[in-house]
Amino acid sequence: MSTPSPILIIGAGVVGLVLAQSLKKEGIPFQIFDRDAHIDARGHGWGITIHWALAALKHCLPAELFDKLASIQVDPEVGRNDTGQFLFLNLEDAVPVFQIPPSKRLRINREKFRKLLLEGIDVQWNKSIAGFQATQDHVQVTFADSSEAHGKLLIGADGATSRLRRLMCPETGALNQLPIRFLGGTVKLSPADIAPLRSLDPLLFQGCHPATGTFMWFSTLDTPEVNGSTGASEYYSAQLNLSWPVKGLEDEIPATEEGKLTKLKSLAQVFESRLKKAIHDIPEGTEIIEIKLADWPCLEWPDYGGRVTLIGDAAHAMTMYRGEAANHGITDARHLHDHLLKTHQGEIIQKDAILEFEKEMRERTSWAVMMSRQACMDAHDFKRLNKDSAILARRAEKV
Ligand SMILES: Cc1cc2nc3c(=O)[nH]c(=O)nc-3n(C[C@H](O)[C@H](O)[C@H](O)COP(=O)(O)OP(=O)(O)OC[C@H]3O[C@@H](n4cnc5c(N)ncnc54)[C@H](O)[C@@H]3O)c2cc1C
Repeated sequence: MSTPSPILIIGAGVVGLVLAQSLKKEGIPFQIFDRDAHIDARGHGWGITIHWALAALKHCLPAELFDKLASIQVDPEVGRNDTGQFLFLNLEDAVPVFQIPPSKRLRINREKFRKLLLEGIDVQWNKSIAGFQATQDHVQVTFADSSEAHGKLLIGADGATSRLRRLMCPETGALNQLPIRFLGGTVKLSPADIAPLRSLDPLLFQGCHPATGTFMWFSTLDTPEVNGSTGASEYYSAQLNLSWPVKGLEDEIPATEEGKLTKLKSLAQVFESRLKKAIHDIPEGTEIIEIKLADWPCLEWPDYGGRVTLIGDAAHAMTMYRGEAANHGITDARHLHDHLLKTHQGEIIQKDAILEFEKEMRERTSWAVMMSRQACMDAHDFKRLNKDSAILARRAEKV
């Protein structure tokens, strides 16, 4: 008997790995590839909140893996009694002006999440997709090292800048850049230094300055309990990010590391004293990272007879101002898993399964991308903010 043709997943990010775990659980053959040399190749150690997709995640993962999520929370102590509150401040006086409706959530470290999801999954590293060919019953992928893979379905989970998406949609696959710039850095703070920030909210808060439109995002990344410094030189890690509207050339990202830090400090000059101090105390030499704010609203792609599709940021890149891109990606993985299981069990042909999957995903996420775009703009326009603004309104519950 010949070996069944595998499903080929491109990208071992959160979404590709959640899908891989869900297929492994069902015994559905797959192969997963990533362009990087190994899991630690790039340090995207930011915190992400999984809220309305927790049930979808539970559906996809083996129970023992899902239970381990509690161990990768950025702050397990807060996680144990979390109220789910999410504050939006006036950065001029640090007074909360809005509270985003609380919800059940897990605030976890993204890189630890990926490592957890890697358990039992054999990723083929150093495999960057360069091309593909789909026929009626088969798909062939070519990688940059000239090797090939063959399967029955190709799934692009290769992130916001997806190479596969751009191969599928040469005319329309490029990201839409927003007129907002974003810089941030990770700092180690002593308990005394972080206390004024954690007194506002121990996990995270955001806010906008009414006069300048600068947006700030604070997020705890780990605590002494998590990083093992308890009882010694205790420290917390935190992420401090600012973003601002581009009105002229002076608002563009400076070319040098030094210039980036100077830019952050000058933007914080008008902040309330605790917030200003937090930014002004970022040490020289801290790596300041730019995140490009761009999106892609799940436009149509050619019909390859149900042989090629996209999920996660590759299918619907969105800005993080509503904090739900990964929630949508995990929801994609859940729906795709359900459809592929039906195909595996012979209840539906693959072509119909993929068309149904794409229809649901496109309806759910094209709206979400536009809401996140609006949230990004709202975040920098304090005077027009109200409780119905996209950045504050309740996230999608539709799964
Ligand atoms: C600062 C920040 C905060 C965020 N906070 C939240 C939050 O609170 N809640 C939330 O829901 N979302 C949040 N997000 C969004 C979330 O991080 C992403 O939606 C999620 O990580 C996307 O996962 P993905 O697997 O689709 O893509 P990625 O994580 O980008 O993974 C793509 C993978 O594909 C690989 N790859 C890329 N190109 C190729 C290629 N040519 N060939 C082979 N492999 C390739 C990459 O190496 C990578 O491993 C946040 C994002 C940012 C930037």
